[in-house]
Amino acid sequence: MKKDLRDFELDELVEVMKTEKIPAFRGKQIFEWIHKGVASFDDMNNIPKNLKASLDENYMISNMKVVEVMKSSSDGTRKYLLQLQDGNVIECVFMKYKHGNTLCISTQVGCRMKCSFCASTIHGLERQLSAGEMLGQIFTVQADTGERISNVVLMGSGEPLDNYDNVMKFLRLVNHPKGLNISMRSITLSTCGLVPKIKELIKEKLQLTLAISLHATSDEKRSTLMPVNKSYPIKELLDVCKEYTKFTGRRITFEYALIASENDSEEEAHKLGKLLKDIHCHVNLIPINPVKEKDYKATSNENARAFQAVLKKYHIEATIRRELGSDIDAACGQLRNKHIDTTL
Ligand code: SAH
Repeated sequence: MKKDLRDFELDELVEVMKTEKIPAFRGKQIFEWIHKGVASFDDMNNIPKNLKASLDENYMISNMKVVEVMKSSSDGTRKYLLQLQDGNVIECVFMKYKHGNTLCISTQVGCRMKCSFCASTIHGLERQLSAGEMLGQIFTVQADTGERISNVVLMGSGEPLDNYDNVMKFLRLVNHPKGLNISMRSITLSTCGLVPKIKELIKEKLQLTLAISLHATSDEKRSTLMPVNKSYPIKELLDVCKEYTKFTGRRITFEYALIASENDSEEEAHKLGKLLKDIHCHVNLIPINPVKEKDYKATSNENARAFQAVLKKYHIEATIRRELGSDIDAACGQLRNKHIDTTL
């Protein structure tokens, strides 16, 4: 099996050069080419032909194939279905914001967290994505759109903290000054709340934005929506969130998907306000994206605004997520599921 050069950190590449008896500066050059997003060794025009040929014996660049692109007619959002080298397919979503282009990437093929409202988990976890495959989503979309991506959100399919080591490697790679050089402050990592992994993350001392999928105010309700809550209940989760803000100085984002008649009453908003009032945070209210396999309905705009107004009373800033690309099946996992269902 050839190794994917997108998966190598700079010092690892220099090490590879050493073992192949090639001068170290070539490692730096190759690293720079890889992170410019080249699709083949042929494009590396300051690398000698014989070196390219010998690299080709053991190494490769794991290009992805664009299987489908769905373009929103209203806001420039593009949803990609990408095929990996082993035939698996993943999704990522390109969004245009005033502050720059954002790519929402997948961190796993499928997911094993079993959140009841989520399309990504329906077929379970197929496999972990490598750091190179996370980067590859950025290179592929930059090449397709011709636009630079300045912000990354780890909020596509998969649970990033369930693929911890590869995600940390991806963060180092995407942040590298000789690579894409995307600052940690332009990266958001979203988790369903794997408490021990959040503790590990605190120790990394990264300046990224941590987003927590909360979605309910009682353990009883949260455990029905998100089985992970049975292992790491709300109190434990919020305690570790407080630690995170204390150690990093960063504000936490709480995601709260508003589901009609499930968790969207004013009473729930008051409970949420009380739970979060002492945490340096921001709340993202997301009218749920209905998934065809599940029987949940989105809250009304009126309800969403009333919920937001209650949080304001607790001095909690809340935004109602602009539904980018809602005309193109944008809930995570829906495009992949459609693909799997039609190819089975
Ligand atoms: N596993 C991570 C990241 C992926 S999901 C996490 O749980 O945070 C990204 C966000 O989308 C999470 O907040 C998730 O709960 C939410 N989500 C999943 N399915 C959704 C749906 N159908 N409608 C709205 N939000 C959804």
